[in-house]
Amino acid sequence: MIENISEPKHCVAIIGGAVAGSTAAEVLADAGVVCVVFEQNDRPYGKIEDGLPRWHVKQRKMEYETIDGRLDRPNVIFAPRTRLGQDLDFHDLVQNWGFSAILLANGAWKDRPLPVDGIDQYVDKGLIYQNPFIYWFNHKNEKAYPGPRYVIPEGTIVIGGGLASIDVVKAVQVDLYEAALRSRGIETTMLELEHKGIPAICAAHGVDPAALGVKDCVLYYRRRAVDMPVAQPPDNATPEQMAKTQAVRQKLLSKVLEKFRVRFFECHLPTAAITEGDRLVGLRFVQTRVEGRNAHPIPGTETDVLSPLVISSIGSVPEPIAGVEMKGDFYRFKDWDTGEYAPAERVFGVGNVVTGQGNIAVSRKHAAFVARHLVENYLGIGDGERDISPAYRGAEDRVRQQLEKVEASLQRHAPLAPEQVNTILERVGSRLHQLGCAGYREWIDKVTPPDLE
Ligand SMILES: Cc1cc2nc3c(=O)[nH]c(=O)nc-3n(C[C@H](O)[C@H](O)[C@H](O)COP(=O)(O)OP(=O)(O)OC[C@H]3O[C@@H](n4cnc5c(N)ncnc54)[C@H](O)[C@@H]3O)c2cc1C
Repeated sequence: MIENISEPKHCVAIIGGAVAGSTAAEVLADAGVVCVVFEQNDRPYGKIEDGLPRWHVKQRKMEYETIDGRLDRPNVIFAPRTRLGQDLDFHDLVQNWGFSAILLANGAWKDRPLPVDGIDQYVDKGLIYQNPFIYWFNHKNEKAYPGPRYVIPEGTIVIGGGLASIDVVKAVQVDLYEAALRSRGIETTMLELEHKGIPAICAAHGVDPAALGVKDCVLYYRRRAVDMPVAQPPDNATPEQMAKTQAVRQKLLSKVLEKFRVRFFECHLPTAAITEGDRLVGLRFVQTRVEGRNAHPIPGTETDVLSPLVISSIGSVPEPIAGVEMKGDFYRFKDWDTGEYAPAERVFGVGNVVTGQGNIAVSRKHAAFVARHLVENYLGIGDGERDISPAYRGAEDRVRQQLEKVEASLQRHAPLAPEQVNTILERVGSRLHQLGCAGYREWIDKVTPPDLE
């Protein structure tokens, strides 16, 4: 806990302590700003812990340590188990707490709803969304795991097309083949299957994977394979550059399909739920004709696909928070690059909460870099080292660039008087006392499950 402040200082609230929130805290704290990081969970690692599949063992550990180093430093106070919209009221935070600025670094945790009428009544009754699915996949082996437990059946279908949907089909397939091999008395691990691929592991045990009779997972995408957003063309791409990007996309996908025995249907759009009693038992698809970004349904091409489980992985957007104004699926930002929140001065968004809408130089540069080797490593189909840290360094650079606006705003306003900062710190201190949180490292040690993978 920070001792009594005796000089004027800026004091900033940061909502969310993961890649974006911790990067912001580090930059601002090192510039002498007192930062209070309010995090909804016990641990601050966000998508790294709950969204990056657990086969990225080294990467996750490395990123945890990076985040720890940023939050366990002078001028940073970490307030866990404090959710904006539940334990903290947004209007109260903006109007009454007295912070110099408020940064929303709470990421994108709401799955985009699958656009099929009435489908959400079947959540957990034949339908699962990607965020809870990966959360379960990452934590399911912990004894004290409190969330819903899923059984992944053969013949699962996944709706998606981006990198995250590929994580989902891989998770399903390694789970199915681990079980199928075990039923033949062959012990293997999720890590081995992900790393070497299903055909290679089967071959090592003298098994023909087809002979296992697993009903493989199927990925359905509404556009063509060459349109999949797993690689991005440069800005104002020439037709040659576009063709090259499309070839990369096709190649990446083919490698994934082969290495994990996934089946794939392009140009298929789900249009209706097929149900039995209170369960979803499949989806009706219509084929599409792709024109630019549009996928037009082709009348008369409808097919019904029965499946015991549908996983929807069509993207994530920020969760609505009481009091935070929205524009469509996002918070009402004035500027997608700087993350300035339109309805209130001194409120900014950083990181995934301003997802993908930005156009700032570092993001563009990074997107081009991400196109190849990094994505191959991310997907586990590259030949090189499986180091994907540049993905996170890119995200951090983007946060640093967004912080320029925040720093300019702080410079325009006088720092808070010492008593104002001390009032905020007392308020935070009493919450930490209630929680039994006496310091960052001690807290993390206390709340980390002993069997966390
Ligand atoms: C191959 C690859 C390439 C990538 N390329 C890019 C790129 O080019 N650019 C880019 O920006 N990113 C990129 N990323 C994504 C990068 O992983 C994310 O930007 C980053 O992990 C997201 O961090 P975040 O802190 O914004 O969000 P999160 O990790 O989601 O963290 C949000 C935190 O806020 C907390 N929180 C949520 N709601 C509340 C609440 N109401 N109250 C309190 N706390 C709350 C959550 O618990 C969580 O800890 C890439 C990733 C990969 C794997």
